[in-house]
Amino acid sequence: MAIKVTIPTALRRFANGQSTVEVAGATINEVLGNLTTEHAQLRPHLYSEDGKLRNFVRVYVNDEDIRARGDDAAVNEGDEISIVPSIAGGNLAKLAPIIKDRAKLTNEEIKRYSRHLILPEVGMEGQERIKAAKVLLIGSGGLGSPIALYLTAAGVGTIGMVEFDTVDFSNLQRQIIHFTGDVGKHKLKSAEEKLKAINPNLNFIPYPVKITSENALDIIKDYDLVLDGTDNFPTRYLVNDACVMLKKPNVYGSIFRWEGMASVFAPHLGGPCYRCWYPEPPPPGLVPSCAEGGVLGVICGIIGNIQANEAVKLIIGKGKPLMGRLLRFDAMDMSFREYKIPRDPNCPVCGKNPTVTKLIDYNQFCGIGRGEDAGTSGDSIVEQKDEGLGPDDISVETLKQMRDRKEDFVLVDVRNPDEFEICVIDGSVKLPLPELPQRFQELPKDKLVVLHCKSGGRSGRALKFLQSQGYSKVKNVAGGINAWAERIDTNVPQY
Ligand SMILES: [Zn+2]
Repeated sequence: MAIKVTIPTALRRFANGQSTVEVAGATINEVLGNLTTEHAQLRPHLYSEDGKLRNFVRVYVNDEDIRARGDDAAVNEGDEISIVPSIAGGNLAKLAPIIKDRAKLTNEEIKRYSRHLILPEVGMEGQERIKAAKVLLIGSGGLGSPIALYLTAAGVGTIGMVEFDTVDFSNLQRQIIHFTGDVGKHKLKSAEEKLKAINPNLNFIPYPVKITSENALDIIKDYDLVLDGTDNFPTRYLVNDACVMLKKPNVYGSIFRWEGMASVFAPHLGGPCYRCWYPEPPPPGLVPSCAEGGVLGVICGIIGNIQANEAVKLIIGKGKPLMGRLLRFDAMDMSFREYKIPRDPNCPVCGKNPTVTKLIDYNQFCGIGRGEDAGTSGDSIVEQKDEGLGPDDISVETLKQMRDRKEDFVLVDVRNPDEFEICVIDGSVKLPLPELPQRFQELPKDKLVVLHCKSGGRSGRALKFLQSQGYSKVKNVAGGINAWAERIDTNVPQY
């Protein structure tokens, strides 16, 4: 019997680029066993060395998590198995509005929100709750942009925004709150200008900081709900844990390439939290970030607006929230699928006996070390800031001198093939990071190996991997090809 297995975007390159694969098997185990025999490169992504399914991979049969059934359960003709890695229970009774207060509307506001006011589910009561609502957005990037624009237009009274970054040219393709003329400006300033232009009634509260374990509780406590617009793991776990501890609903969204996901985490309202779903993050480097893997700008609008929609529903207490349910969107197939996320009674944060009772060091928890910055808007996780070199780093100036002196070393570019098309440093060996575990033996051990990527993050991980394989002469180019383009060869484009 052949069972259809859906392969997520992040793992398709290990399955000859296919989005679905037909695999024979009578039980879940057999199907996954045959799948990973046929596509051996998938195996390390699904199973740990001791043969257990990895914690950060969820396998669904139709819409059921296999943890409920056990992986030796039988599968039937027509069943569909989906693999859902982190990129990142059931139907619930109707919820009461999370906003208890109501704020009276002015005549100008009555006119402005007339299409809401004549909508039976919103009406005057709902709109007054929307006005009374205090919503916190983490990040003003790809997801934060549409969320902020729509919630402001919808009349949310108070929006807080946590963002430390400035607008970069490479943001404009998807972070639609920022315009070309804003490049170089602080994102909070740029966002506030647009939001106030849409709706001058908005009370906008900027937080020009990185959200950390030290400040998260203090920032979040004053809000009614949180929308997480980050795409890095340390911030996602931090926001999750802080929201669980403060009993604030957390509307989650994540995006990667042509795929997106959304859900609502709120254990205090009966749903699961992010950790119920993924108790631990994937090791750094296994799941590429958007800065490494790319993302279609439009996806940010689709997923961000789903988050904004869930926020409005929670505020007015109408409809069925996306709680205990994961919505996954595939833009290539133009399909939405829904998976149940059960509450985990042993969850380390929201379970019966929580082991995480105060905020921890999330960079350490996610295995992020020196030179890799967690950031808040996602892009900066792989950016290596050029402040001082570590013991394994060399600067682009040193690399230039070594090349000019014709020193004997191998320069290895660990970016993805699509990035080689954009620009390369002449004479480099192309060896994408995901292929390194299979191909590292192509590199000499007796010669100096110099690694580079776009900005230093991935090559730093490649360096650690090579060192673990007994390579002692390895260096990492701090700042990557972008630093090379900025300081050595300005003909090379930055991206
Ligand atoms: Zn939980």
